Amino acid sequence: MGSGKVTTGSAPFDFQGKHVTVAGLGVSGIPAAEALHARGAIVTVVDDGDDARAREQAEGLRALGITVRLGDGATLPEGTELIVTAPGWAPGKPLFQAAGQAGVPVWGDVELAWRLRGPDAAPWLAVTGTNGKTTTVQMLAAILKAAGLRTAAVGNIGVSLLDAVLGEETYDVLAVELSSYQLHWAPSLRAHSAAVLNLAPDHLDWHGSMAAYAADKGRVYEGNQVACVYNVVDRATEDLVREADVEEGCRAVGFTLGTPGPSQLGVVDGILVDRAFVENRQKNAQELAEVSDVRPPAPHNIANALAAAALARAFGVPAQAVRDGLRAFRPDAHRIEHVADIDGVAYVDDSKATNTHAAQASLAAYESIVWIAGGLAKGATFDELVAASAKHLRAVVLIGADRALIREALARHAPEVPVVDLDRTDTGAMLQAVTEAKRLAVAGDTVLLAPACASMDMFTNYNQRGDAFATAVGELRA
Ligand code: ADP
Repeated sequence: MGSGKVTTGSAPFDFQGKHVTVAGLGVSGIPAAEALHARGAIVTVVDDGDDARAREQAEGLRALGITVRLGDGATLPEGTELIVTAPGWAPGKPLFQAAGQAGVPVWGDVELAWRLRGPDAAPWLAVTGTNGKTTTVQMLAAILKAAGLRTAAVGNIGVSLLDAVLGEETYDVLAVELSSYQLHWAPSLRAHSAAVLNLAPDHLDWHGSMAAYAADKGRVYEGNQVACVYNVVDRATEDLVREADVEEGCRAVGFTLGTPGPSQLGVVDGILVDRAFVENRQKNAQELAEVSDVRPPAPHNIANALAAAALARAFGVPAQAVRDGLRAFRPDAHRIEHVADIDGVAYVDDSKATNTHAAQASLAAYESIVWIAGGLAKGATFDELVAASAKHLRAVVLIGADRALIREALARHAPEVPVVDLDRTDTGAMLQAVTEAKRLAVAGDTVLLAPACASMDMFTNYNQRGDAFATAVGELRA
């Protein structure tokens, strides 16, 4: 961890008369275009799409005097001095190649929000990682609120950073969720403190390689002032801290499900304890909360709670607020959501487990599982997941387009586990899957929907998939 480089944040940017191209007419593009226009920039919005909705949105912007070019998001408009892009636009796009050749900087929505903050703006506590971001940011916001601070969970979650920064509300501190895409396009972001929860291959098609993905996640630590929070069992996160350039005095703080060393938060006899933000951390530890205060008390979720606690403690929050905040926290739907108990079998919806890393955490949380899995694999392989989880599997029910990949991994690593392969991708398949799972489960088991895959082959999104599961479970009970 290189320190000593004083990063005082970016100088205020004068948009007056600047030719700014906004790439992407979407949820972030429209408010970005409006904010830039209001600051005197000459704005052109470009988008590949040209459907009825895009045209309607374009009309709204044109009425303000903003130029909109639909059906061509590839060509760099003449005279562009800055591009502000929607976070999802991949770096390989021709527009960015043209920008690179012309020496035009590219910012994402987060960079724009960062640059538009006022002089007394609230500091940011930032969270990224492959899985657990939303949960951790919500836990963090709950803890900060319990400490009496004015805060909100923002970023890659409900409220956009631009809205938070430009809105009427005043905050003491923001709990910010950042995706790897957003970090890629946020070169000057400097958080008060930040956490990388974990690092597993995801979105590699977008970033180009695991190294590039990790480097983008690692940007969250750049310029941190108080603490860089990392996951002790995930060495890659610690490596990113080591590589980061931070403010003088900023500390590396680890979280672990085991007994914490000095400068770590961890768990001792069912108690979450802090050995980082205490006097004399060689000898002392501060009790924060009990494991049972964390809902659900699955191991990976306790890790999320520790990361949230570390960021809150870095901001100076008292121990009591950690406990109160965790108790007040309610997880979002479809994240290890307990749906029902029928005949001694628990039915759990973790439809949000859309990649193998998330599903593996979920499968580790229960002893004996009838696992409902499958969907769109997005290029993933399943050997590691199945090998690590085999001992928890009573049986498996497979659904979705890429289920053969999971079936083959099961044949290799868990040949004794019974598998039901449902050869249908219509929405009614979920009722059949749940019915089969019920048949295979015995009292004490958990029927777990943790697909390890995206849902779009059968459903609109993971919410609809989780709802279909809950509806099917309801029908079993009826
Ligand atoms: P994200 O915002 O990063 O997608 P969420 O908090 O929405 O994360 O959780 C998504 C899924 O990831 C959960 O449903 C769960 O299966 C899994 N998950 C949550 N926290 C962790 C973690 N710390 N490690 C691994 N998997 C996790």
